[in-house]
Amino acid sequence: MAEVTHSTSTPVVELVGVNKHFGELHVLRDIDLTVSKGEVLVVVGPSGSGKSTMCRAINRLEPIDSGTIRVDGVPLPEEGRPLARLRSDVGMVFQSFNLFAHRSVLDNVTLGPVKVRKVKKAEAKDEAMELLSRVGVQDQADKLPAQLSGGQQQRVAIARALAMHPKVMLFDEPTSALDPEMVGEVLDVMVSLARDGMTMVVVTHEMGFARKAGDRVVFMADGQLVEQATPDEFFTHPQSTRAQDFLSKIL
Ligand code: ADP
Ligand code: MG
Repeated sequence: MAEVTHSTSTPVVELVGVNKHFGELHVLRDIDLTVSKGEVLVVVGPSGSGKSTMCRAINRLEPIDSGTIRVDGVPLPEEGRPLARLRSDVGMVFQSFNLFAHRSVLDNVTLGPVKVRKVKKAEAKDEAMELLSRVGVQDQADKLPAQLSGGQQQRVAIARALAMHPKVMLFDEPTSALDPEMVGEVLDVMVSLARDGMTMVVVTHEMGFARKAGDRVVFMADGQLVEQATPDEFFTHPQSTRAQDFLSKIL
């Protein structure tokens, strides 16, 4: 597997020999992966290959069977540091938004900082409004999530994750549940985050995003990292038969 090195950078996410089973199913097989500070890693691969499980494992939503996952140098489990706080180092944006349905857009963004980061309410609100304007939905602050379009809800989800000051942002197919006309507005926010230097792991088949913002693509199949390359290399000259086969289906 060709390594694209960012050797001068600090590792933010490190997976070493990570294995995970669901019963008989070996979903993550000896995964070794390092994401450097400021890097945008795009993860592609067929459905069922373990992409979401890997994201959930990085965010400690899914226990692993063996191996080590470190975020910002901190392995888990680590005594004395509550899981909620550790999770706040990892911002996660899901396919299905996952906003708190009965809370306003503004509350969705302030709850985490107030409860977990112990930020004062007024301060959390000011920062939330800044984040909401950064993603272009400041005028929706007092509405409930259901009153917003899918694209707006996903942008709120991004603002909510950013409010925790994460060390890395994980995006698990963030645009695949959206109507096509809303995909662009969410990808634009992600591209701007990438340009601001955010460390990102993005599961997506949006090749335009990968080429514009991605530093590296990893191709995952059957729980393994099969191939990695720059976006241009990967999309124009995939090396493995499985990657070639996969790309012929999505392109
Ligand atoms: P991807 O995101 O690449 O589509 P997933 O990580 O969601 O893949 O799933 C990998 C495999 O693990 C699939 O075969 C899926 O059915 C299985 N799987 C995922 N979550 C669970 C679970 N909670 N229990 C049992 N099997 C699961
Ligand atoms: Mg998935």
